Amino acid sequence: MLKKHPFLQSWITKNMNALLFCILGIVLFSFYVPSLSFEYRSGQWVLLGSMLAASLVLYFYTFQIPPEGSKQSMDSAVYLACLFIFGTSAALGLLFLSSLLFALIERKVSWWKHLTNFSIYAIMICGAGAVFSGLGGQLGQLQNKHLLSYVGALIVYFALNVLCIAIYYYMADRSRIAVMLRGLLQESALVYTCILILSLVLTILIENNGVTGLILFLGISIFLSHLFKKLFDMYLQLQERAIRDQRTGLYNHSYFENLLEHEIRLARSAGTPLSLAMIDIDDFKRFNDHFGHLEGDKLLGLVGAILKEEAKQAGVTASRYGGEEFTLLMPGYTEQEALVFVNRLRKKVNDTPFAGVEILPHACLSFSAGISGYHIDIHDKSMLVLQADQALYDAKKQGKNVAYIYGSSFPLEQEIEIAQDVRDIEQLLNLFLYKDINTFKHSKRVFRYAMDISLLLKLDPHTRKQFVLGALIHDIGKLEIPWEILNKQDKLTPNEWEAVRKHVNWGKEMAITNDKFKELAPYIELHHERFDGTGYPHGYKGAEIPVLCRMLTIIDSFDAMTSERPYQSTKSVREAVMELRRCSGTQFDPELAGLFIEYIEGKSGLGTGGEELPN
Ligand code: GH3
Ligand code: MG
Ligand code: MG
Repeated sequence: MLKKHPFLQSWITKNMNALLFCILGIVLFSFYVPSLSFEYRSGQWVLLGSMLAASLVLYFYTFQIPPEGSKQSMDSAVYLACLFIFGTSAALGLLFLSSLLFALIERKVSWWKHLTNFSIYAIMICGAGAVFSGLGGQLGQLQNKHLLSYVGALIVYFALNVLCIAIYYYMADRSRIAVMLRGLLQESALVYTCILILSLVLTILIENNGVTGLILFLGISIFLSHLFKKLFDMYLQLQERAIRDQRTGLYNHSYFENLLEHEIRLARSAGTPLSLAMIDIDDFKRFNDHFGHLEGDKLLGLVGAILKEEAKQAGVTASRYGGEEFTLLMPGYTEQEALVFVNRLRKKVNDTPFAGVEILPHACLSFSAGISGYHIDIHDKSMLVLQADQALYDAKKQGKNVAYIYGSSFPLEQEIEIAQDVRDIEQLLNLFLYKDINTFKHSKRVFRYAMDISLLLKLDPHTRKQFVLGALIHDIGKLEIPWEILNKQDKLTPNEWEAVRKHVNWGKEMAITNDKFKELAPYIELHHERFDGTGYPHGYKGAEIPVLCRMLTIIDSFDAMTSERPYQSTKSVREAVMELRRCSGTQFDPELAGLFIEYIEGKSGLGTGGEELPN
């Protein structure tokens, strides 16, 4: 029969727990229905009617309990009072009518949920009623000598409630029943004790003052419910305040620490990725020193607002770690995905106008970021933070306004034979940190591309060293160009262009005065020569230009095309590759351009959906 109704079959499998309770509840109810008495005095009918109204009112005036905000209804007190005064059948009759009316009012809740709820209550009432009469309890006035029967009934009522709920959820998701029972007991023991005592108080009130007693009880319950709601709202507000940073509206450090621990546990057990980004605003002290702390605070607020908005949309949690440092906790993000997200965010921050940011080295609001990803060897949350911090340090060292993944900095840089020379050139380049940060960062990127290309070309160690150092130092002559020209936003005049073009000669002069850098002079002098002979300073053509200088020209141009600038869009890798192809044979050596394009397409993942290069 069931096979013909797959919908019914799947419903039954899914709601087996509800079905069991419904069957038991209905059986018990039907068992008691025949003993329902209708021979009440008119005063008793009025009382029963008032109890029905009271149970309905109490459905809505609940007690909200921290920390989860679960709602406890007081209607149990009315059913129990009815049970103690009129007996089990009357209490069940009251429950039936009350559930029916409630189901008619709350039609959004499905009928079988109403039925399950009714059934669980019916089981509790029947259990309590059986114990009450079993222990010799008498209906009507509360009698001190039968106290044991009242207590027994109350304990069974509570125990059946906890047990039914535990079994219901155990069947639904197979969570551990013992743990659940303990949780339910802890959560509701106090409230239930209260409700159970109140049911005895209600019995006394009704027996002595009838409907007036019931109204008094209802009044107290409604006021208390209102009070509890207010207290719960206050609790939520305080809880919110305890985890928020007031200045930025982001989560605070301690919330972040707790969440990090929780997310690491989740990632470990579920085997899902998790990334952390540490963010530090660039040159914030300079901004503070220049405009004062109040303006600095506003800037912090702005960064906080951007982080909050962007994080919310991406399922990321942004927190203020301290001072001008922030964290982004990214569950479900691999390191690469985290890098894409952080870079998009960084560009957005770069492009956000704010009065005064022109004085900063990047002439815009910027931050640097370090990213670390959770993996099985991370035993402790502080390790993940430490790694993100290390990556952040590397990002700052590369000229700021960049994001790095931990462990992705360049081992080649540390190779003994070139490390010292790299450091010497970096000393010179540091002058650009104040004069032209973009040239500083451009030089470092060109150096990294040259490192990769040198491996690809299988250069011998000496040539390779000259090539990569040449790439790092190639723009050193720009130190001689006046600041106003280097940082000019408008078009350059012909005279200014002349000064810019001279940087290759000035750079060469600088290099040949130093024995160490003499051999690098061709890279400095010839990286603006063009394959077709229309470049400068000499107009050399084709093979007249040393092959690695031709390669440097390609790298240099590609990076110039793809490097980001605030308030401007730059070429994508795809567009830059098209441009390289277009100028192949004129500006660039076609063979070398082909080789570089192949390399860059592989590195950027073009064609496989990726594209996230300049850093
Ligand atoms: P870097 O690019 O290397 O990060 O340089 P920085 O100047 O940003 O970094 P540094 O750590 O030297 O300075 C951080 C400054 O942030 C120092 C402190 O005055 C400022 N700061 C920290 N918290 C607040 C704050 O709540 N309000 C304001 N206005 N400034 C703050
Ligand atoms: Mg800092
Ligand atoms: Mg900083």
